[in-house]
Amino acid sequence: MAKHITLIGGGLVGALLAQQLAGRGFAVDVFEKRPDPRIAGFTGGRSINLALAERGLQALREAGLADDVLQRAVMMRGRMVHTRDGRSGLQRYGVDDSEVIWSVSRGALNMLLLDAAEAAGVNFHFGQSLAHADFDQRRIRLVDEQGVSRELDAPVVIGADGAGSALRAAMNAHSPLGERVESLGHGYKELEIPPAGGLSADLVGRSGGHDQFALEPHALHIWPRGGYMCIALPNTEGSFTVTLFLPAHGPHPSFDTLGGANTARAFFEEDFPDLLPLIPDFANDYDGHPVGTLSTLYLDRWHLDGRALLVGDAAHAIVPFHGQGMNCGFEDTVVLASLLAEAPDDTADVFAEFQRIRQPNSDAIAAMALENYVEMRDSVADPHYLAKRALGALLAEHAPGHFMARYRMVTFTHLPYAYAYERGRAQDVLLDQLLRGSTDAAAVDLGAAVDALRATLPPLPDLR
Ligand code: FAD
Repeated sequence: MAKHITLIGGGLVGALLAQQLAGRGFAVDVFEKRPDPRIAGFTGGRSINLALAERGLQALREAGLADDVLQRAVMMRGRMVHTRDGRSGLQRYGVDDSEVIWSVSRGALNMLLLDAAEAAGVNFHFGQSLAHADFDQRRIRLVDEQGVSRELDAPVVIGADGAGSALRAAMNAHSPLGERVESLGHGYKELEIPPAGGLSADLVGRSGGHDQFALEPHALHIWPRGGYMCIALPNTEGSFTVTLFLPAHGPHPSFDTLGGANTARAFFEEDFPDLLPLIPDFANDYDGHPVGTLSTLYLDRWHLDGRALLVGDAAHAIVPFHGQGMNCGFEDTVVLASLLAEAPDDTADVFAEFQRIRQPNSDAIAAMALENYVEMRDSVADPHYLAKRALGALLAEHAPGHFMARYRMVTFTHLPYAYAYERGRAQDVLLDQLLRGSTDAAAVDLGAAVDALRATLPPLPDLR
């Protein structure tokens, strides 16, 4: 008989994991709090669209879904940085279009993954919220949308129920997991730039010939402003989802001091004068959308022997500034599905091994995501950062076996996050030494720099 697994949460990670497990012969039941989005419409989640990068794409390839997803995605070649004086410039992510990221709709992706999992034989139970788990009796209690509860046997249960995981709370109550939640102290709010047809003609024309869009569609737009920023990701139908990241509390500007749309509009007129006219429904967007919170979750333990395990955001929620939370969760599914397929009856060993492999990597991407906030909101407009970036690009060109930008390792390779973090740090130290405070990469003796690089750092691993 097929080994049975109960999954809590049919979001991005839960749906993909369910599909992969069913494809490997497991009997999978998924209990999802929300109604079926394919019938009721997609109701929220954390952000409207997300950046899909190589790690997530590779998981989708293994699931046979990458082409379907890419057909519904918008390619982003780099960061389009908008300075306060209204200028903008593209900082490409990679050398060519083989190194790009993709903007995908969370709702569309989730629905595609649900379809794929159902086609693989997964049983979904929507409108069913995990309320309690009794790990000693190996039973769970679910509550439906009418508040009616029922109990079920669940000998092996996996929590993909997101950052506020109910399964994690139940595991923690049974035996503490060593949970630490570190709030960033900054929140976010989403606003919308509609397709160009909805804007007055004098505002359109910055889309590089893509008439449907009000801005260049093939870029992740950033308006860095030091302690805060806006970003915008394109959607297939021509709109952009704008996200304002700002301190939650404290002196102006913070979400506290902005209050409602009137003060927020004055703030945008001052700080984002080129962006504000592209958001015609500013007041409704601002007052109608909640302020989201951002935190990093650390746990000492992700599993309760072989009875329960946490994956995705339920185990390691991170801040979104590297665009890697979902990508990391998708990588989790590949590792876990293959470990479980090898030893379906040894869930205690498999869960321990899963944590051993994944935790150093989720810790590393958590740290890099925090660092990237500073980089995005501040450094992308900083001359020393730009000089380091330029020198890094020269070293990558002249010594490709020895230098690769950390962003590139994280976004376009499958090198473990922990490796990218360590290597990135070592490369950064070297760049600082080579530049000696200068903001002119061209002034550095490139031959000597390549020699120093080769003498200091071992070659990069073979990427094939
Ligand atoms: P979730 O997506 O949170 O899904 C959890 C599911 O569990 C939901 O369907 C929920 O309804 C269900 N659930 C919750 N509680 C229960 C319960 N008690 N019983 C049953 N079901 C339950 N990542 C990227 O890779 N790229 C990006 O560009 C990116 N941008 C982001 C922008 C923002 C503003 C934020 C906040 C996050 C972003 N992320 C991004 C991170 C990404 O959203 C998460 O890492 C990803 O959604 C995690 O997927 P998950 O399935 O683990 O959790």
